[in-house]
Amino acid sequence: MGERRCRYCQQVFQPSKFQPRQTVCGEAGCQRKRRTDYHREKIAADPEYREVCRDSPRKWRARHSGYWKQYREKHPEVAEHNRRQQKLRDRKRRLCDLANNTSALDLKHSAAQVWLVGPGAAHLANNNSAPAQVWVIEALPSRPVSSA
Ligand SMILES: [Zn+2]
Repeated sequence: MGERRCRYCQQVFQPSKFQPRQTVCGEAGCQRKRRTDYHREKIAADPEYREVCRDSPRKWRARHSGYWKQYREKHPEVAEHNRRQQKLRDRKRRLCDLANNTSALDLKHSAAQVWLVGPGAAHLANNNSAPAQVWVIEALPSRPVSSA
């Protein structure tokens, strides 16, 4: 049987005689990707499989209620790290929503000023890798001066 090129790592491999249509080599990383892709495609295509996959962790949580609460109590540093990461993901999602919101102004053409405030501002201004928050706030139209 001829050699093949793995669709993930592009290395040449010898397919198993038991798997004549094998397209992925035997490396653990490539096999993991193959299983992940299969799982993703199967979930998208097979409603019964999708339901079983959704149900399984639900049943596990019902049998082990309180597991995650205990885990967070035992590992406060992990819980705090996860909380920070979730805040970042939430913030990113809100920014994406804002960018996709057609009622928002065209951000590319908005004249913006960024103000750095606080005790670390001087340091931040000179530090290109510093994390920064930019708040985008729609300005109210200026009120016409009433003559009455
Ligand atoms: Zn491979």
